[in-house]
Amino acid sequence: MERLRHELESIRNKGLYRRLRRMESAASTRVIVDGREMLMCASNNYLGLADDHRLIEAAIEAIRKYGTGSSGSRLTTGNTALHEQLEERIARFKGTEAAIVFNTGYMANVAAMTALATAGDVIFSDEWNHASLIDGCRLSKADVVIYRHADLKDLEEKLMRYRSGKRNLIVTDGVFSMDGDIANLPGIVELAERYGAWVMVDDAHATGVLGRRGAGTVEHFDLHGRVHIQMGTLSKAVGAEGGYIAGTHELIEYLRNCARPFIFSTALSPGVIGTALTAIDLIENEPERRARLSLISKRVREELIEMGFRVMSGETPILPILIGEAERAVEFSHHLEEQGVFAPAIRPPSVPQGTSRIRLTLMATHTDEDVRDILGAFARIGQKMGVIR
Ligand code: PMP
Repeated sequence: MERLRHELESIRNKGLYRRLRRMESAASTRVIVDGREMLMCASNNYLGLADDHRLIEAAIEAIRKYGTGSSGSRLTTGNTALHEQLEERIARFKGTEAAIVFNTGYMANVAAMTALATAGDVIFSDEWNHASLIDGCRLSKADVVIYRHADLKDLEEKLMRYRSGKRNLIVTDGVFSMDGDIANLPGIVELAERYGAWVMVDDAHATGVLGRRGAGTVEHFDLHGRVHIQMGTLSKAVGAEGGYIAGTHELIEYLRNCARPFIFSTALSPGVIGTALTAIDLIENEPERRARLSLISKRVREELIEMGFRVMSGETPILPILIGEAERAVEFSHHLEEQGVFAPAIRPPSVPQGTSRIRLTLMATHTDEDVRDILGAFARIGQKMGVIR
């Protein structure tokens, strides 16, 4: 315990201590954080579905019929008709032959990568990929080659040099979680086809957000049938919990047989499955949510740039506003909270030195008045701190 105390002290001294914030209300745009009402600008609940009454009803109905816990892994006693229905629904939504659900998106990534990339294989991974893909690389027995973020020239050079695996697998976030940029998936797919590699895309932040029906980056770029492994979460725009892999029958059957996080963990609870089933219907049937999200994301981005902020380029609801040094970004975030806007500072090691930022995420349910409040707070604090003139 003495050693843990020292290590915690050292984390604190480096300013990297992580503190829990307490949310005391439903996941909507107005939340009570640590006892204060604030405008939520940091949530992954992009479409505002996480407290939609239809999802709440669907959860209750599923719990009434199937109970609160699934009580076993999918391969033992935990597989209900609802689980199978959800997998069929995801496959239809993503335009693939089949899909498999995992308890979290994190587990879906680790599961797919450890099952599909083993000794003698090579994984090519974008340097800014999400931690769960990095952990998938670390836990797989494959060799790992990191390519520079979104740099297809570097990827091609590395494919030429290192593609010696029985299987060569390129993995990328569809939408990068800290920078909010969209991967150049058409370019990656072309390289994969030229050099004989598989492509895996993590659509955690693209599901529900990108594509005509909200099906993600493959739909956004019209690459159906050319991306081998499509991963996504049910925890962000879907407003539930869990993760999935979508692909061919053989791929999904293989994961069912070989992915340890699928085999050795209790199945998702029925309430979560019922929620996700209804949410996917809403994502498809209410495109106006996506349109609204896209409209306000564009507007806030343009107006912040107009004010003089450095907003990283992109077309997603993730808006990284560069502040620079970590302390200044933290101070900016504190001022935002004082003005009732909840948007955290992101600093190293999550992002490179000197690029500390406020990571603002928008939701389809933010009203015009909310948008005005957000912009007003940024203008006042930006001027006060000398971030803008
Ligand atoms: N991939 C990315 C890009 C993510 O941002 C996240 C969540 N932060 C995950 C995977 C993990 O998903 P989940 O939260 O469902 O475990």
